[in-house]
Amino acid sequence: MSEMINVEELFGSKVFTRTVMKERLPKNVYKEVIKVMEQGGELSLAAADVVAKAMKDWAVENGATHYTHWFQPLTGITAEKHDSFVSHPDENGKMIMDFSGKELIKGEPDASSFPSGGLRATFEARGYTAWDITSPAFLKEDATGVILCIPTAFCSYKGEALDKKTPLLRSMEAISQQALRIVKLFGNTEATKVVASVGPEQEYFLVDREKYLKRTDLIFTGRTLFGAPAPKGQEMEDHYFGTIRERIGAYMKDLNIELWKLGVTAKTQHNEVAPAQHELAPIYETANIAVDHNQLVMETMKKVAGRHGLTCLLHEKPFAGVNGSGKHNNWSLTTDNGVNLLDPGETPNENIQFLLVLACIIKAVDRHADLLRQSASDVGNDHRLGANEAPPAIISVFLGEQLEDVVKQLVETGEASRCIEGGKLETGVSTLPDFTKDATDRNRTSPFAFTGNKFEFRMVGSADSIASPNTILNAIVAEAFCEAADVLEKAEDFELAVHDLIKEYLTKHQRIIFNGDGYSEAWVAEAERRGLPNIKSMIEAVDTLTTEKSVQLFKKFGIFTKAELESREEVLYETYAKTINIEALTMIDMASKQIIPAVIRYTKSLADTVIAVKEAGADASAQAELLKAVSEKLTAMKAALAKLEEVEAKASAMENAKEQAFYYKDVVKAAMDALRAPADEAEMLVDKQVWPVPTYGDLIFEV
Ligand code: ADP
Ligand code: MG
Repeated sequence: MSEMINVEELFGSKVFTRTVMKERLPKNVYKEVIKVMEQGGELSLAAADVVAKAMKDWAVENGATHYTHWFQPLTGITAEKHDSFVSHPDENGKMIMDFSGKELIKGEPDASSFPSGGLRATFEARGYTAWDITSPAFLKEDATGVILCIPTAFCSYKGEALDKKTPLLRSMEAISQQALRIVKLFGNTEATKVVASVGPEQEYFLVDREKYLKRTDLIFTGRTLFGAPAPKGQEMEDHYFGTIRERIGAYMKDLNIELWKLGVTAKTQHNEVAPAQHELAPIYETANIAVDHNQLVMETMKKVAGRHGLTCLLHEKPFAGVNGSGKHNNWSLTTDNGVNLLDPGETPNENIQFLLVLACIIKAVDRHADLLRQSASDVGNDHRLGANEAPPAIISVFLGEQLEDVVKQLVETGEASRCIEGGKLETGVSTLPDFTKDATDRNRTSPFAFTGNKFEFRMVGSADSIASPNTILNAIVAEAFCEAADVLEKAEDFELAVHDLIKEYLTKHQRIIFNGDGYSEAWVAEAERRGLPNIKSMIEAVDTLTTEKSVQLFKKFGIFTKAELESREEVLYETYAKTINIEALTMIDMASKQIIPAVIRYTKSLADTVIAVKEAGADASAQAELLKAVSEKLTAMKAALAKLEEVEAKASAMENAKEQAFYYKDVVKAAMDALRAPADEAEMLVDKQVWPVPTYGDLIFEV
């Protein structure tokens, strides 16, 4: 029997929750904190001092020795610099642990080494971190000890955002303000804010750590750069939702416990499609907390794996030929008095509001499909989007049969009076149908699917931060809401105006709606006919950030300045170039130090065998044929290696970030593929005993 797990006791035990604050803070300070959390503004320094002391006492009682401003630079992962609570000892040499309000609110890490895309010249290297009071502080416990982590935003001296959190928080404010205008029009005057909620489903692979350590490609790049397919892949579909094996189960159990302690609502776990692939989904929560928590989920997944002799791979495509990993970003909007704007709702009023919201989202996604696609791109995701697997790189919206029918009627006749069967809801308007609450049908091939009361954005990569996708979603929908509210607030006949606006938006933007098979070739052609963008790679998506339309959008809602957008472009090109460069160098290293020498040794032993067998007077033709075949692969590998070395050197000497990134994509990657092919063919020919690294079979079937 395993020990009892008391989830209620564990949950949030490492978090400086409201309950802890209520217990430890004087009433007036607690009230001030809650007010700032809920309504924004700044905490007074006096209150911050009190909070800091309470936070420090709580942390120290729980074993903490250090604190850190935990932030999310443009690397897409988190950063932390630890400071101990140690202060000057008093005259008797006694140590008093110290932590001030100032230290809580603001930090000044020497941050010159974080990517800033030119926003911060190194001579003014200072970057500032500022406490995000809306995301709770927590304790991280590992071999370093216990560290108090304070979620923070990260900006330059001039206040430019150098991180992923700041724009996200700005976008949340924008969507809240604009959505409030919409709900007010429908008579909801009690709501004071609208919250973007996010629930990310996280996919991951687990491999045996011993085997992992034998593969420099996994160590340096997170994916296999060589590897012939195993005899079995995922074709039997026996892994998806399959029984969870003991070793993996023990890992999942530990992972859940760690996450619960951190206040992450780990909820669903299952085996995914590919062998050795799994998924974890938490319960949705406020967007910025969901983003922070997803970072914690990824970090904890890796940490806990080590304890089980496993390694967690978050890369979007660790293995060629089997499914890669993504992150389904479920997104919805809810008022603080409990109305989900994406829920068809209970009353006629809510249903019309729902249709307007839907029409706005469709308009937003159509207008900014390029930006949305950009937000889901990272280097690893290029192996998924529009490549060998889904979802496609083309953005489209899936509504389900029933809603699509409603849209069609509205577009065709301006009225929608019939409704596909189901339990009906009233709209109370003769020109709008009574439709069912539950759009049950599902389409797994759609990148942006309506799933009952939320949209599921399925393009996001498994290793990527979900900050950008949610920033973009909030921004583009805020814009559509703003434009709708501008019209409706002035309308003389509100009902008529709403009706006309819904019809107008749906008519204009219906091309983005697609309920068919998003994986098919036919869709690619159809999408082109409809004029939908098909941006095939991460770096081709980069300049969508600075089109006139984007700059205007982000400026209007104060989410990014033009300089901030340009800096992000720069960082993306650089990140791409650096990543492919590491991959190329790793391939060169593995090919020249491991694979080619192993194959040479094998050809030598074959040659010896041929001679010996012939001398012994037997037929050596089989050995000779094999020798010939292997030698051919060796020759091909040698030539491809030389070519890769040549183009890599050329690439790394290039100076213009954009040109360099494109050269890596178009030339270096092709050279990498050209080296991989003969190496993988050689693997199929060579004695397994002499192959220098664990194979795909070893890695994904023997976990
Ligand atoms: P499925 O695999 O069927 O899509 P999962 O249960 O794996 O569903 O994940 C669904 C995710 O969507 C969960 O994280 C869940 O909390 C989240 N979710 C549910 N309702 C909402 C909502 N209204 N807004 C945002 N996310 C939501
Ligand atoms: Mg799921």
